[in-house]
Amino acid sequence: MDYDYIIIGTGAGGGTIAHKLAPTGKKILILERGDFLKRAKENWDPAAVFVDGHYNPGEMWLDKEGEEFEPGTHYYVGGNTKFYGAALLRLREKDFEEVKHYGGTSPAWPLKYKDFQPYYLEAEKLYSVHGKRGEDPTEPPEKEPYFCDPVSHEPPVQKIVDRLKPHGFTIFHLPVGIRLNEKNSEKSECIRCDTCDGFPCMVDAKADAHTTCIRPALSHDNVTLITGAKAEKLIEDNGKIVAVEVIKDGKTDRFTADKFILSCGAINSSALLLKSGVANSSGMVGRHYMCHNNSAIVAISKEKNPTKFQKTLGINDYYYGSDDSELPLGHIQLLGKVKPEMLKGDAPAITPEIALEGMADHAMGWWITSEDLPDPENRVTVSDSGQIQLSYTENNLEAHKRLYEKLVDIIHLSSPTTHIFPNSLYLRKKIPLAGVAHQVGTCRFGTDPKTSVLDIHCKAHDLDNLYVVDGSFFPSVSGVNPGLTIIANALRVGDHLVG
Ligand SMILES: Cc1cc2nc3c(=O)[nH]c(=O)nc-3n(C[C@H](O)[C@H](O)[C@H](O)COP(=O)(O)OP(=O)(O)OC[C@H]3O[C@@H](n4cnc5c(N)ncnc54)[C@H](O)[C@@H]3O)c2cc1C
Repeated sequence: MDYDYIIIGTGAGGGTIAHKLAPTGKKILILERGDFLKRAKENWDPAAVFVDGHYNPGEMWLDKEGEEFEPGTHYYVGGNTKFYGAALLRLREKDFEEVKHYGGTSPAWPLKYKDFQPYYLEAEKLYSVHGKRGEDPTEPPEKEPYFCDPVSHEPPVQKIVDRLKPHGFTIFHLPVGIRLNEKNSEKSECIRCDTCDGFPCMVDAKADAHTTCIRPALSHDNVTLITGAKAEKLIEDNGKIVAVEVIKDGKTDRFTADKFILSCGAINSSALLLKSGVANSSGMVGRHYMCHNNSAIVAISKEKNPTKFQKTLGINDYYYGSDDSELPLGHIQLLGKVKPEMLKGDAPAITPEIALEGMADHAMGWWITSEDLPDPENRVTVSDSGQIQLSYTENNLEAHKRLYEKLVDIIHLSSPTTHIFPNSLYLRKKIPLAGVAHQVGTCRFGTDPKTSVLDIHCKAHDLDNLYVVDGSFFPSVSGVNPGLTIIANALRVGDHLVG
């Protein structure tokens, strides 16, 4: 046996479990198809990141009609956390239960909030999450405060808070994972810039899986990382995975281990399992793909918005419903700073560049998330030529429509000056199929091997030694960003393995 553990993928799931297992002294191999992301000017260049797709893998997937599209995903050490907005929220207690929605019912999880609670706390500490307990009425119970103070609002954001509070909104500091010290700038790695959400961090101050987990894991002699190594196939023998076949620099290699931990992201992990023909006696691998109903909304007001670090505010007043809705609507948060380049694709075609700059100067970006429900027909498959196919039909859109209408009211209340543009010109973009940032659900965990792929320890029901710790395991997606739950779950599975 070459290794005790082989971990495939270095994102939120893989990076975190590598960090957990590294101090055990076990011989660990980490395989990552991407390379280290180079520190370069492009890191913070909105044109490079948002227009030129500098960091996109250039891979094409198929939609349900067989049309090609380029997925918005990233293959680097640290995975998609290199680019994430680091809004790290716990699922709400009720998210672990069966919940009725406009589009159907989201299923109960086999484990409950109390099973995740200690790992959420560990995850918040590890990923330097800044926040304030007690502000968000929907937050799940936790006795311990956050380890880091909440990130303060800049004046334009504080103005929103001040204007909304008299209307009864309970606004909270969005929990974010950055290494910021507002009390002592000498000790702050984060410089509080306007290129965080969606950008890789040039000063390594974002708590991503690379800087937070992989880097310290590699300081242990027992841990080896091979980059540019794409896992192509898992080889099964007698109810166990015995080897992984990897392509690096055009050459195929095989590595053996006692245990394999798959964490390629929900889409790539299920594609690898399907290509390998393993762990799928239930026929559930690749099914129940979820990605949230997400929309980015840019509101342009007469007031200038000089905010730099804008992702500090969250609103969950409509998470479980509203005065006029008994059913859940979802979560609202601010987006990172809006740049002219981000508006390019969405503004009317005649808008000149200078106007885009003016718009961005006056823009406040919002992000709304509603739950999409697990549907077995929303699924990942692999074509005969090995290409990933993502078949997805949106659902539960009524909740999202209603949440959008609530946000429009919020925008009016929070920015009462006449808007330069009529309402119809709130630039609203429902995130399309290619927006796979919140991908989860393709190998859900459960107690019944007929209806789930993984058991409650995220071990494949069918195999003695294969674990999956990326976003695949989610039975439902909830209404909040998935990152912290993926991290907490990787810590939980890591604990199980160590134990
Ligand atoms: C722009 C953006 C903003 C986001 N903002 C937030 C946010 O604010 N809050 C939040 O909670 N979430 C956010 N997310 C989502 C978050 O980043 C993901 O939920 C999280 O990274 C998923 O973790 P994972 O381990 O499942 O997969 P990933 O992080 O995607 O990691 C998968 C890893 O596996 C590697 N890999 C894939 N296939 C193979 C293979 N065959 N062989 C070897 N390696 C392979 C990949 O290169 C990658 O490193 C955002 C995502 C994006 C893209």
